Amino acid sequence: MTSIFSKIITGELPAYKVAETEEFLAFLDINPNAKGHILCIPKEEVNKIFELDKDTYGGLMEFSRKVAIGLEKSVSCKRVGMAVVGLEVPHVHVHLIPLNSMGDMDFSRKKNMTDEEFEALTKKIKANIQI
Ligand code: 5GP
Repeated sequence: MTSIFSKIITGELPAYKVAETEEFLAFLDINPNAKGHILCIPKEEVNKIFELDKDTYGGLMEFSRKVAIGLEKSVSCKRVGMAVVGLEVPHVHVHLIPLNSMGDMDFSRKKNMTDEEFEALTKKIKANIQI
């Protein structure tokens, strides 16, 4: 079955996209732990991160690193945390989360954001990412 994230890649579903290459895509998490929470995904639909081939795995890490550097310049945080979970969406994704406290890594605590806030943040983060 086509994943939600594959539908975001094709444009079938909307997303606040912040960076894209031929192989990878980064967009804002729609239900963020913290403002600026980003998901980095390979365009190839693979369920679990350790099922990725070595090159795609390495490429995803390098893509995530560049996105995280841009993210840290865009929001007020102590650092950007990284997590891989995948219990909800069976399409590999790296969570990049701006951290100010350990609570920001708590996936049961979510922040509400308006469309306007998502749009403004997308613009800001996009401008700070160099791929
Ligand atoms: P996980 O699979 O790692 O447990 O979590 C999946 C993440 O994807 C969650 O943080 C959730 O908010 C996010 N998510 C689920 N559906 C969508 C969607 O349609 N669009 C976006 N941008 N994020 C989503």
